[in-house]
Order: sequence, then C-alpha cells, then structure tokens
Amino acid sequence: MLYNVSQLLKEPIGSTREYRVDEIVDGPELLAGKVLGQVNLLHTHQGVLVRGQVQVETAWSCSRCLASVTDTASLEIEEEYFPVIDVITGRRVPMPEDADPTFSIDANHTLDLTEVLRQCLITEAPMKPLCRPECQGLCRTCGVNLNQAACSCGGASDPRWGALADLLRNQN
Ligand SMILES: [Zn+2]
Ligand SMILES: [Zn+2]
Repeated sequence: MLYNVSQLLKEPIGSTREYRVDEIVDGPELLAGKVLGQVNLLHTHQGVLVRGQVQVETAWSCSRCLASVTDTASLEIEEEYFPVIDVITGRRVPMPEDADPTFSIDANHTLDLTEVLRQCLITEAPMKPLCRPECQGLCRTCGVNLNQAACSCGGASDPRWGALADLLRNQN
C-alpha cells in the first residue's frame, strides 16, 4: 500500500489528499487479503499525517485448536510519517527524535501504509484469539481436534466421561 507524496509535500502545509482504498494486501502476519476504505493524507509541518478508516481481511490461528481463521476487522488509523529527504532541496532530513523509523517517507517520497495496518491489527487483536467462543481445542494427549472428532485416546476431557471414569474407579 504505497503512496507517493512528492506532490503533496510540495504543496502548502494543510494540503490534503483523499484516497479510496481497495487493494489486496499480500500481507505480513495477520493481514491477508482485501483492504477497503479510505484514507486522508495531510501535509503537516514536519511530514504527512495519515488518517483513515479501513476494513481489512485478517488471518490468524485459533489459540486452542490452531485452526486458521479468516475474519474482517475495522481499523481506524492515524499516524504521522516523516520524510528522510527534503522534497525541494533533495537533502537528507533527520526524523524527529521520538518518531518510529518505520513511519518514514522514503527517498522516493513514498510512504507505506501496510505497517500501520499491521501494528493496528496487533493492538486490536485479542491475546488468545478463538475460532469461536466454545472452541473445544485439541486433546492434550493425542492432539485430536475435539471440534471435529471425539477423542479415543482416553484423555477425553468430556465431563460426562470423567464422571463415568470416577464411578468405575470407585467400584474397584
Ligand atoms: Zn478453535
Ligand atoms: Zn485424545
């Protein structure tokens, strides 16, 4: 998701560009497909402020059963990018001290939104994502996916069988 901002940077501070986003991102982790929405680029005192709202397709693994899950997420992005080269003079400019070097406008005056989306997703993503709230996970003993099959190794965690096992144990 590359945007060339050389023209925008030559325009007065406060100039904006509006873009409709409709792309397929062949993503880094999490991001996995279509990105739809819109972004606004604003020429600021030091760089370009990107604001936007996008819907992204995401892919991740369930933390219990490891199934891969695709989903969509709505993200609100706001990030300021700083140029490494002055577009008028062609000279290198230092980034502000507290700026994240990931969010730089490169020597070709291009900024990349992919990393913003990825970071946004990481912040929004649950720590232990589940394919569905009642996911049964994998049997700890034999690894069977308990959503798909009953486990036959005897390590079943089904409470009904547990009760039966207790009963049998008590009889012995
Ligand atoms: Zn699951
Ligand atoms: Zn098992």
